[in-house]
Amino acid sequence: MSKVKYYYDPESLSYRKIERKKRTTFKYAAMFILASAIFGFIFVFIASQYVESPKERALKRELQNMQLQYGILNKKMEHAEAVLANIEDRDNNIYRVYFEANPIPEEQRKAGFGGINRYKQLEGYDNSKLITESSKRLDILQKQIVVQSKSLDEIAKLAEEKEKLLAAIPAIQPVNNKNLTRMASGYGMRSDPFTKARKMHWGMDFTAPRGTPIYATGDGIVVRADARATGYGKHIRIDHGYGYMSLYAHLYKYNVKQNQKVKRGDLIGFVGSTGRSQAPHLHYEIFKDGKRINPINFYYGSLTAEEYAELLENASLENQSLD
Ligand SMILES: [Zn+2]
Repeated sequence: MSKVKYYYDPESLSYRKIERKKRTTFKYAAMFILASAIFGFIFVFIASQYVESPKERALKRELQNMQLQYGILNKKMEHAEAVLANIEDRDNNIYRVYFEANPIPEEQRKAGFGGINRYKQLEGYDNSKLITESSKRLDILQKQIVVQSKSLDEIAKLAEEKEKLLAAIPAIQPVNNKNLTRMASGYGMRSDPFTKARKMHWGMDFTAPRGTPIYATGDGIVVRADARATGYGKHIRIDHGYGYMSLYAHLYKYNVKQNQKVKRGDLIGFVGSTGRSQAPHLHYEIFKDGKRINPINFYYGSLTAEEYAELLENASLENQSLD
């Protein structure tokens, strides 16, 4: 109970009780509560600067865990970078070399991202550096993977082309010549069987009995199978693509028609002695970009090194051709 207060009233010359108004009481109470609240807030604010709340502790733990995870991610990225570097190295130094493509320059593979700062929204925090570095690393890694993937696409295409090219280029002997005794005359200066004059022999002659099978030496299309070329008699020309053409002359019979597609090893005709020929034999020529070249360089498909050396020696003998 609060004390009862009095005041002196000069008019009535007596002490009178001070009546406190209800509104005043309420005002005092409100001021008291407000003051307590302000002090309370100030106290809590100061305390919070030095004392962690359970929520803060939980957040801190979460943050530490995140940093730890970032550290682990960085280690994994390091590993991925090493694996990718190895693939890039093989790509540049083996695959691209094998398929005669230029290696992809390092700057192109490792190119960053110029222009605007893509990591601006990551700046201004305690962990900015860690997060920015990781993001950058991952971005570069991603780009490198795209570059590598494109390179492999290119190589796959080159491999396919190379396979086609290898199948197309003449690479076997046009007649069965296992013991290598059929090669009669090579490419180069030879004496003419009819005039005995020394002149250029533009192909290789394989002696064989009339009717011996003749095989296509590479994949291609039969562009001619006729006797309308002077000297060659019945002859076949196969266009192999890539600038290569093979020619088979003095045939006895055809086994293919014009515009027919053939594969290496297909039976295309039979040995004969039509045209300007001294005896049954196959006269074989190879053209590259319209020019006749030495067929001796095109038997790698079916000969060992020793056999090839023997054939090479026989082909270089300056003897008489069968034409
Ligand atoms: Zn010949």
